[in-house]
Formats: sequence, structure tokens, C-alpha cells
Amino acid sequence: MRIITRTEAAVEPNHWQDELARAFRRSDELLEFLRLDPQQLACDHQPDFPMLVPRPYAEQMRKADPNDPLLLQVLPLLQERDPVEGYTLDPLDETSSNAQPGIIHKYHGRVLLMLASGCAVNCRYCFRRHFPYADNRIARRQWQQTLDYLRQRPIISEAILSGGDPLMLDDEHLSDILDELEGIAHLRRLRIHSRLPVVIPQRLTSTLAQRLEQSRLQTTLVLHINHANELSEAHRSGLKQWRDAGMTLLNQSVLLKRVNDEPNTLIELSERLFEFGVLPYYLHAFDAVAGAAHFDTQEHLAQQLHQQMQQRLPGYLVPKLVREIAGRKSKTLINLDSGQSGNYNGM
Ligand SMILES: *Cc1c(COP(=O)(O)O)cnc(C)c1O
Ligand code: SF4
Repeated sequence: MRIITRTEAAVEPNHWQDELARAFRRSDELLEFLRLDPQQLACDHQPDFPMLVPRPYAEQMRKADPNDPLLLQVLPLLQERDPVEGYTLDPLDETSSNAQPGIIHKYHGRVLLMLASGCAVNCRYCFRRHFPYADNRIARRQWQQTLDYLRQRPIISEAILSGGDPLMLDDEHLSDILDELEGIAHLRRLRIHSRLPVVIPQRLTSTLAQRLEQSRLQTTLVLHINHANELSEAHRSGLKQWRDAGMTLLNQSVLLKRVNDEPNTLIELSERLFEFGVLPYYLHAFDAVAGAAHFDTQEHLAQQLHQQMQQRLPGYLVPKLVREIAGRKSKTLINLDSGQSGNYNGM
């Protein structure tokens, strides 16, 4: 009999599913865990978009701090119910780029496959918080049609697994999906956009890393991290293992008021990402989704913040500042051009 070492046990493939099962789903339980008085916060105890917060993520929050930047991202507030003009249910008009259920084909050469119907965390600012995932996830019986869609379009060189969160599927299911995608000759790259490993580090299983390492498709994992405190020691070995397996690790963030709208916070995020072997890729200006207006920052502020990053970080640690504009074929860069740069004199 083979002896299972401690490290192997720590990355045991189903452990992440246990974590998911015991996630916080009630705000009073989360607040109690954080030693916060519910009276201090105007929580919504029965939000339409339910609360979901895995414990490893909650453990990264500061205790007794109602302004913790991680807590602000996930705690449902009554404020979300206030209608605000200009904030809509589908700000990116995604329902209209649905080529067929489960596929969003709006970017040149790339298709988004919506594989999972949910996420491991419900982020209050999510631009898809009202998106009909359940109708849109690729059901197993539609999978052959999806593959046909890809096979018939040689222009598609990259498949982007999206969701919900594609890593909600288990490793076996993902491996089956890979088998099929690998059989499509014109596909060269695979991309996985996920926030799951951020909130449950155990999701970076060695099983999946090994499967992806064997793939002929070049794979990129785009994480979704908004604040340096979201990265813990628990992420270090998993990310290293995925990187050692040949994966490119990138990150995209959303600019969120009170969470990361300070230059030092964004700079620390870039520095910390790099320490973990992840490169900053995009910084998204906020999408005007109903229920999340309190996270919005003005565009000129976003541009100033980005400029400060540019002035204080090496170029490879400065993410592209972008906005998603409905109907456009790519994201839109909203960087100020460096010629207009302000008067930074410090060191
Ligand atoms: C922007 C985006 C893409 C594709 O855009 P790239 O410019 O190729 O990175 C894919 N998936 C998600 C979730 C995105 O936000
Ligand atoms: S993980 Fe991503 S898709 Fe899921 S709720 Fe959060 S922001 Fe939205």
C-alpha cells in the first residue's frame, strides 16, 4: 500500500467541494464569525442574489472590521435594493451576443463557453448578478452542438471557459471537456477564467494541473483577485504547481469603491500577485449593474489611479485599464495617454 503524505492529502481533489458545502450562506453567521455586531451594518438578510462566502475567504478578513475590503465585496446590503438611474440588469447586453445557449461569441477568434451555472462566491458587484445562468449553462445534451459550433469555425483559436465559474465543474468533467476540445484541430489555446481558487485555494488540485500539463492546448488561468489580502499562504503551493505545469497565470480585477480605489492598494495588489507568480492583466472599470451602484468610481478617478500605478510600478506590473462597452468586439482601453501625466515627484 502506498503511503499518502501530508502534502498529497492537502490537495486531495474533493476537499474543495467540502469547503463549498460549508460556506457561509447567512449574513448573521458570517458576522458572528467576524465578531461584528449586526446592528452596525445595514445587511439584507434575504437578498435576491443570495450571500455565498466560503470559509477560507472569510478567514482572510480582518476580525471586527466592518470596512474590511473582502467583507465589502460579499456582504449583501439593503442599499442594493435602491434603484439608481443608469444601473441596469444586463449592462453589457450579453443576452444579445448569445450565439446559442451557453456560447458568447463576440470577441474575434475567441469564444466564451458558459459551462457552470454558479460560482463559489457571490460577489455583490458582479455584472452578471442578474444573468440567467441556469438557462444559459451548456447542458450536457447541448454539448455536441457547442462542439459543432467550434468545429465549423476555423477562425476560433481560443476557447475560454467561463460561467458562472468553470472550476465549479469537477476535474473529471473538465477532463472530458478537454478531450473534446483537444480534438478540434484549429483550437490552439484554452483559457480558464475563475475566482474559485481565490476563495477556496484547494481548488488548485494537482489532478487538474497534471491533466492540463498533458494537453496540447496552451492554457492560461485568469484569476480574479481584487485585493492583496485575498492571497494567502494557502495559495502559494497551488499556484506554483500550476505554473510548474506550464500554465500562464494572469489576473483581472475590478475597480471597486472602498475596496481597492487607492493607489497604494492597487500597487500592493500588483506586487503581491507577482510574488505569487501571477501577472496583472486587466483592471476593469466598473460596469453599471443594478444593485451595485455604491461600488462605482468615476472614470477620471480610475484614470488617475492607473496613472499612479504607471508612475510607480514596472510596466509589467501595470494592468490595462479597460471598460467593457456593450456591442464592441473587444474591451476598450481607457488609459490616459502618458503625455498627460500628472506631477509625480516622489520616490
Ligand atoms: C474580457 C474577457 C474575455 C476576453 O477578452 P480578452 O481581451 O481576450 O482577454 C473573456 N472572458 C472574460 C470573462 C472577459 O472579461
Ligand atoms: S466569481 Fe465572478 S462571475 Fe461569480 S459572482 Fe463573483 S464576479 Fe460574478
